[in-house]
Amino acid sequence: MTQHLKHFIEGAQAESSDGARMDLISPVSEQVYATAARGTADDVHRAVAAARAQLDGGAWSQLNGSQRGLLLSKLADLVLRDTDRLADMDATAIGRSPMEPRMMDVPNAVANLRAAAGWANQLEGRTIPTAGYMGTKTLSYTVREPIGVVGAIVPWNSPLMITTWKVAALLAAGCTVVIKPSEETPQSALHLALLCQEAGFPDGVVNVVTGDGEVVGRALCEHPGVDKISFTGSPEAGRAIQRIVGPMFKRVALELGGKSPQIVFDDAVFEDAVRGCAMGLFVNQGQVCAAGSRILVHRSIADRFAAALAQAAEAITVGDPSLPGVQMGPVAKKAQYDRVNKYIQLGLSEGARLLAGGVSESRKGWFVKPTIFANANNQMTIAREEIFGPVGTIIAFDTDEEAIALANDSDYGLAATVWTRDLSRAHKVAGAVKVGAVGVNCWSPLDANLPWGGLKTSGIGREGGLSGAVAYTEEKVITVLLP
Ligand code: NAD
Repeated sequence: MTQHLKHFIEGAQAESSDGARMDLISPVSEQVYATAARGTADDVHRAVAAARAQLDGGAWSQLNGSQRGLLLSKLADLVLRDTDRLADMDATAIGRSPMEPRMMDVPNAVANLRAAAGWANQLEGRTIPTAGYMGTKTLSYTVREPIGVVGAIVPWNSPLMITTWKVAALLAAGCTVVIKPSEETPQSALHLALLCQEAGFPDGVVNVVTGDGEVVGRALCEHPGVDKISFTGSPEAGRAIQRIVGPMFKRVALELGGKSPQIVFDDAVFEDAVRGCAMGLFVNQGQVCAAGSRILVHRSIADRFAAALAQAAEAITVGDPSLPGVQMGPVAKKAQYDRVNKYIQLGLSEGARLLAGGVSESRKGWFVKPTIFANANNQMTIAREEIFGPVGTIIAFDTDEEAIALANDSDYGLAATVWTRDLSRAHKVAGAVKVGAVGVNCWSPLDANLPWGGLKTSGIGREGGLSGAVAYTEEKVITVLLP
């Protein structure tokens, strides 16, 4: 029998108010492997009411930071215990090898929870010297209070990891949450909610409503009982959310897309740069917000570099990720498959030179070949728009200034890498690129202590690190008259 997943509201599983369900489809077999409740605005309302009750005098509101930290530590232990299960859930849902979430996503989720356990009692205020009040001395100090109920809207590409970026930080701050997982990947969020219950979080602190973005996500944005929306996903959905929450003055964090440059100078360690660029481009089938899909290479090494990167692409074995030796699975869904192929076709018609991969022939499963275009320019659509698949575009440059200008000539500003042996050049370029994170001779590590977020169309706000937890608080100032 096909597994059926229900919402998790106030500590109990629940069907949708109208009983509707949605299919979860395997990207490898194209078969339905599970169903999930297709949520309604009523379901969202029930979940928000449960989350509100925990803040308004509920057991959660009585806990101090140390107590919240203990619960987060316990939750980290449980996530670690269930590593294989959680990794399998996220891998099955998007056709990824379970090895990647096992080695990357779940350990990062555990690290986020452990780090947040420490932040829970570090969200300090300040005492501020002032001029006093009408000639009388005063004491002014600030406190950080939880923002309230958070609507956490999550994409499908690294579901558990991205969910914990939000949930760990907001629980540390004392908020409660209604999680809206992606249509494709509700399992790991539902399992995380169960683990919260096992860890001892009061029922209603962490709720999950599954379903469509246009219904469940929208209802969260519109609900007056939700104080902050923390969204990770596409700029299109981010704009739709802004249009709703802007006039309500609701707090919002948007982690959106990218078209991240990898800048390879002629003095780079050639093999390291090829390996690093290939990894930054192809990990998770290129379905990574920070994917380094614009590869800017000094003209003197551009042809040699393009040939080496194409060779690295051709060497990747694509297929069913559960089979031994397979390094890359399919893209996550049919719409993504069509989208990536459309961009590859566009690259060809725009005149870029195809060095590896190309439009995929149709066969069972949504498999796309790792693809490299060379001789491209920064005005081509494949250099400007986020493809969110394993497609890289190589553009040659002549000077450092041109490399910086090309890197910054983008609607996006999420991440960049710089490959060079020249220390001064590395710092100069890292300082000049308009992005949220720069890796020099490496990728910005996925580390729970580092803030993450973008500029321009890549979003608003930061997640991760202490600043990620502070973002779920409001600063209040209190002044006491001292006559
Ligand atoms: P998406 O925007 O289609 O969906 C993301 C989530 O938003 C899903 O849960 C979806 O149901 C919901 N949603 C969709 N429309 C909505 C609406 N109108 N109102 C409220 N909720 C809505 O994105 P996706 O295809 O799931 O993910 C891919 C995108 O996410 C890419 O652009 C990628 O770059 C971005 N992403 C960014 C980061 C980051 O940290 N910056 C990380 C991962 C993914």
